[in-house]
Amino acid sequence: MKSHTKVAIIGGGIYGVALAYHLSELGWNDVILIEKGELTSGQTWHAAGFISTYANYGNTSIINNASASLYKKLAQDPELDPGWITSGSMRLIYNKFQYDAACLGVGIAEQAGVQAEIISPQRAKELNPFLNEKPLIGAVYSAGSGSVDPARVTHSIATLARRNGVEINRHTRVTAIEQLPSGEWKLITTKGEVIAEHVVNAAGFWLREVGEMVGVNVPVTIMKHQYIITEPLPEVIEFMKGGREFPTIADPHSAMYMRREQQGICIGTYETSGAVAPAPNGLPWEFDTELLDDDLDRIAPFYERCADTIPIFAKAGIKNIVSGPQIFTATGLAYSGRAPGLRNFWIHGGSAAGITQSAMGKFLAQYMIHGEAEISMAAYDPAGIGRYADREFTIKRSTEQFERAFENHSPYDEPRYARPTFQDPLYDRLKNAGAAFGEAFGWEKANWFNTGSGPAVDEDSFRHANFAPYVEAECKAVENGVGIANMSFFSKLEVSGEGANRFLNSLTARAIPENNKITLTHYLTEHGGVRAEHTITRRPDGTYYLLFASTAGQRDAAMLKLALPSDGSVTIQDVRYDRGSLLVTGPKSRELLSRLTNADLSNAAFPWLTSQTIEVAGVPVFALRVSYAGELGWELHVALKDLAPLYDALFENGADLSVTNIGLRALNSLRLEKAYRGFGTELKEVYSLDQAGLNMFASVKKESYFGRDSVLKEREHPRKTKFAYLKIENSDNDAWGDEPIYADGKLVGATTSGAFGYRVNSSIAFAIVDAEYATAGTELEVKMLGELRKAVVHDRALYDPENEKLRS
Ligand SMILES: Cc1cc2nc3c(=O)[nH]c(=O)nc-3n(C[C@H](O)[C@H](O)[C@H](O)COP(=O)(O)OP(=O)(O)OC[C@H]3O[C@@H](n4cnc5c(N)ncnc54)[C@H](O)[C@@H]3O)c2cc1C
Repeated sequence: MKSHTKVAIIGGGIYGVALAYHLSELGWNDVILIEKGELTSGQTWHAAGFISTYANYGNTSIINNASASLYKKLAQDPELDPGWITSGSMRLIYNKFQYDAACLGVGIAEQAGVQAEIISPQRAKELNPFLNEKPLIGAVYSAGSGSVDPARVTHSIATLARRNGVEINRHTRVTAIEQLPSGEWKLITTKGEVIAEHVVNAAGFWLREVGEMVGVNVPVTIMKHQYIITEPLPEVIEFMKGGREFPTIADPHSAMYMRREQQGICIGTYETSGAVAPAPNGLPWEFDTELLDDDLDRIAPFYERCADTIPIFAKAGIKNIVSGPQIFTATGLAYSGRAPGLRNFWIHGGSAAGITQSAMGKFLAQYMIHGEAEISMAAYDPAGIGRYADREFTIKRSTEQFERAFENHSPYDEPRYARPTFQDPLYDRLKNAGAAFGEAFGWEKANWFNTGSGPAVDEDSFRHANFAPYVEAECKAVENGVGIANMSFFSKLEVSGEGANRFLNSLTARAIPENNKITLTHYLTEHGGVRAEHTITRRPDGTYYLLFASTAGQRDAAMLKLALPSDGSVTIQDVRYDRGSLLVTGPKSRELLSRLTNADLSNAAFPWLTSQTIEVAGVPVFALRVSYAGELGWELHVALKDLAPLYDALFENGADLSVTNIGLRALNSLRLEKAYRGFGTELKEVYSLDQAGLNMFASVKKESYFGRDSVLKEREHPRKTKFAYLKIENSDNDAWGDEPIYADGKLVGATTSGAFGYRVNSSIAFAIVDAEYATAGTELEVKMLGELRKAVVHDRALYDPENEKLRS
């Protein structure tokens, strides 16, 4: 084994091997891979080998398709043939909700360059004669899908990696990892030590344990997953005489997948209840090329349902049962990105469909080498889940991922297991007021309020659903009276010390505010993409108060800590759980607050975008004159213990002003009417501020900050795509993001987010389009749930473009 290397990858499953290959393809071939057993000896060897290029979610389609493309390429070479079979795949559709999901998915596929279409039940039966098509209303057919031999494909990719210079060490276990003063990493293994510039934890079942070696929490759980291979079936033998293949099936009715295996079939289920996490404390290091005990009794009821869909299965003999441990994450997506708080340490794994998604390694390789990837890696960022995800939480969430694996999820779907998460002091009050809660980075947030009858539960729908009239009422309350939103779940940091101003200014694309002023500012990547967005307020004592998205809490704190000067002149304190906040907004908000404070809230004394420490209802409040709703308003930041008394006083004194609880759904609608770009949808690493139309937020006057060179370059050579703000013809649904956009029938972009704007009575969306289609007045068409809808580009907010209400 080498003693020094640029990259050391821990784990020789498909994830580690594919990453090694893609790094070497991109020119980083000083790579070693360390595997404690044989390659594939974790879970890769026993995977069922299904590869569906179609997926319901944005980047997943691109990743799946990229994996399949590599497998098809390997199949051209007899030496590397991974056993690829192009069979096509079908996802069955039984009801309107699934049909809507399919329409959205087919639109996503179109942008990802993946073949996918909705076909009739009859056509589905023609393609796969073993199917009971009677209960179906259709199926999504993706002709490019297929299957592969998971072990063979891993070995083929390993061969390519070796040819590129990658060193693969088998039967070598990493037992400890230390960071050296130089910043490099020392890996201690059973066969000696190696020093690496970068380390990648691709340890599959042992992601958590390898993370613990460097103090990082990697929340993964092992679930028990079983599939069956049948004896040869005469019907399959007969079918094969024509030299044909039938598409694989994904069936939401029986939560089952099915494909041909030799002359029989392979069927696996994801039980929709009673799923088992067989190793809550992890697997021993010695576990190697092993399976778990079969448990046919437990899965029998699910297999009975499989026979509803594939009747020949009812009489099939069982040749083999594979009962394998399978990794799941607390987010339901793989982790692929920087380990929070560590330099040059990466986490790559946790995918429950890692054979299908091996191309995640291609995008991580791009990200490691170039600092950005073709696709946004944000959803896979290991920092996207916090320390609150302990073992118990992760088991519950993994169980949910497993049991709901075959469900379609509405865009409003919230996690159901491991709930409620952290409840701030308003939780019970909001619950009694009818709140339907969601989760924001381990904190319960109110999405909307059911002020009518029945439970506060979201209907499964992609259209205007049960909550729409309530969200409308909340928006109207904000327009005409006062709305109060509990924003306590936001991330909050305090940055202080003699070097704080210099430190923040070196990172942000806009000047840091002066005393009491508030600035919305962004942190850029070296390529000018938006890495973070913070509302920063300077307090008179020189402390900076940073407010930002809950999901970015861990990531941004880690980013700032890694950038801290070594002289100790700056201190960062996380105050998320110390402070709460209420947004009090609407034309009557000044009147309401004036009843509870002696402070002068007039425009002259307390202008827009300034802050003051005042007393409201006897509570010390740090008040910021801002409103994400685009109305007159203040955010009131208080010690968490003061949140409930403040909230009670506002409601007790505001009855005649129609004071109303508002939730996050209303705020999303209100922000779209104001054309505020959303962090995570319009503002993310793959897009620049100029692309988002926020040129004024990327200063060229400011002499130095991270990413400035890219801003200057982009001003000379603008990017080819730009954001468009769209007013869309009304219907019973709005854009969710990822809907394709056409100009004269040509695909020119996709939506990124949308909602119905009740103050302007219009469906609104943001979209990323070819730059020539982003100018005001351009007419476009958006394909939404299968229907083409007219849209017009606007260059000003549809509501109060001059900010008169905010300044009123
Ligand atoms: C029954 C079943 C069926 C499946 N079917 C499919 C399917 O049809 N399609 C699909 O896409 N996916 C499927 N999967 C999922 C797929 O198997 C996994 O997503 C994939 O194998 C994950 O690969 P990996 O490289 O992340 O992990 P692994 O394959 O587990 O590799 C991790 C490797 O790291 C090594 N390692 C760990 N710690 C150390 C250390 N300290 N030092 C050195 N080496 C270490 C391990 O020995 C192991 O080989 C299935 C899974 C199961 C259980």
